[in-house]
Amino acid sequence: MVEKIGIFGGTFDPIHVGHLVAAVNSRHAMGLDRVVMMVANVPWQKADTRTVSTAADRLALVEAAVGGVEGVEAGSLEIDRGGESYTADTLVEMRERHREAELYLIIGWDVAPALTTWERYEEVQKLATLVVVNRPGSPPPRQLTERGWRVAEVTVPNLEISSSDLRARAADGRPLDYLIPAAGVRCIRARKMYAGGG
Ligand code: ATP
Ligand code: MG
Repeated sequence: MVEKIGIFGGTFDPIHVGHLVAAVNSRHAMGLDRVVMMVANVPWQKADTRTVSTAADRLALVEAAVGGVEGVEAGSLEIDRGGESYTADTLVEMRERHREAELYLIIGWDVAPALTTWERYEEVQKLATLVVVNRPGSPPPRQLTERGWRVAEVTVPNLEISSSDLRARAADGRPLDYLIPAAGVRCIRARKMYAGGG
């Protein structure tokens, strides 16, 4: 049997149940053996606009949050590699490490229209099947269908949760409970992330 590996990349600052619901449902729908929550080292799209939590903190948080969930794991490839994180590099490295595996790149519906602006997106296109986690009822983005990506769509409960909102909640002292798995909230407190919020 060929191993099927899902790669779900993100800044995960912080990871939340929206990410995790998308990951486990993509795994189920696509029959993936495992989904790697790949933590970006320096997210090139976000680094200039705000202060991003350290890679070590974000990785520890993802590890805490996925703990005990079968088939979902934290990935540190991009952090280990250092520098800016490009999905093309990550897929090349995953391909080298898992020569026989089928690679699936999982993205939220909001990311899909911008895919063609990614570094070396032609490589991304060659190396992985895209799994677009869709808003229920929304059509596939034209940018993808017109350019011949291998695309699968997975519908998951639409959870209006974002890391930006969670950071704002933490800053205001509003609760993070149930929006982030309990072990993740404990990790945030222990590491005093987001000004000790949560
Ligand atoms: P931010 O608010 O800082 O943009 P975010 O919550 O969108 O953070 P990211 O780390 O930017 O999280 O996103 C990583 C991936 O998770 C992207 O593919 C994004 O589309 C997806 N994603 C983010 N929030 C959700 C959600 N609520 N449901 C499903 N997928 C999501
Ligand atoms: Mg986002």
